[in-house]
Amino acid sequence: MIMTSLHGSVSALCPYADLHCDTLSVAWHRGAEDIFCLDGSMADVSKLLAGGCRLQLFAIFMPPPEEAEAPGYPGDDAYIEALRAIFLRTVQRCGDVFAPAESMADAERNTAQGKVSALLSMEDGRAVRGNFDRLRAFYEMGIRVLGLTWNHANCFGYPNSPDPKEMQKGLTPFGREAIPCLEELGMLIDVSHLSDGGFWDVVHFARRPFIASHSNCRALNPHPRSMTDEMIRALADRDGVMGLNFCPAFLTRDTAARHSAVDDLARQLRHRIRVGGLACAAIGTDFDGIGGDLDVPSADRMPGLFDALLQRGFTPFELDRICWENAARVFREVL
Ligand SMILES: [Zn+2]
Repeated sequence: MIMTSLHGSVSALCPYADLHCDTLSVAWHRGAEDIFCLDGSMADVSKLLAGGCRLQLFAIFMPPPEEAEAPGYPGDDAYIEALRAIFLRTVQRCGDVFAPAESMADAERNTAQGKVSALLSMEDGRAVRGNFDRLRAFYEMGIRVLGLTWNHANCFGYPNSPDPKEMQKGLTPFGREAIPCLEELGMLIDVSHLSDGGFWDVVHFARRPFIASHSNCRALNPHPRSMTDEMIRALADRDGVMGLNFCPAFLTRDTAARHSAVDDLARQLRHRIRVGGLACAAIGTDFDGIGGDLDVPSADRMPGLFDALLQRGFTPFELDRICWENAARVFREVL
């Protein structure tokens, strides 16, 4: 859905799905009631509307141990409820433009009514505590995507690491058992942040598509967070998608970079398409979870990115797949 204006210049208001942002955590830290208009946020609802977002995944990011043990942290369950309350208050406050989605049918209904869909995900499954009842309870709360780990070991498995021994560690026995359970529930598995060993266990045990919500290509960026070509091919073979992460450290050979340039975003997209095919490419900005000097600093600037990609030779068809259809296909199949 690329609109060409009368004088021939392209204005790429391209409806898109973004597989990851940390806006709810930012709102919680600031004590905000909702995220309709959150000062300084990269992906509040007003910016999502301005940028043409059609579906945003909002992560409930579980704080790392040092934060979770600090005074003032209310405990995991109260924290999860608090983030969900911010989400629900936002729906209440701006239900005319913003609506929850727990399935692709919900999202499509919202789209037909001209609303941005919001889907809850969880980043770091540690709050599951190896307990299937807790996993089901999170599903009942509306959480539809689960990032098995963040950057610490938990009941599911181990994180990405520069230490090859740590990186080879696979899923825990609970993590392996949880895969069919997640698939049966209709909760999508997210492998971003997972160890390489854990990734290959997911490939082995999963029967349905899974995603890397906000991950880039290790052939261009040596960070252990990024995915090797072999991993990209395996994810693509499973009909999964990987969301383009805008974080400067995950784009180029320079993992200390502070600048996230459109040219590097384009290269990251091209590489995953070359290796895994067009069907595996998606968007996973990581807005409100990243910093630095970003060419695309917030959701309202996404049309500028789409313009830039068109200028660099991406076709409107490719853009539609990357921005919308590939992610929508996975949600249709799994949720
Ligand atoms: Zn993350």
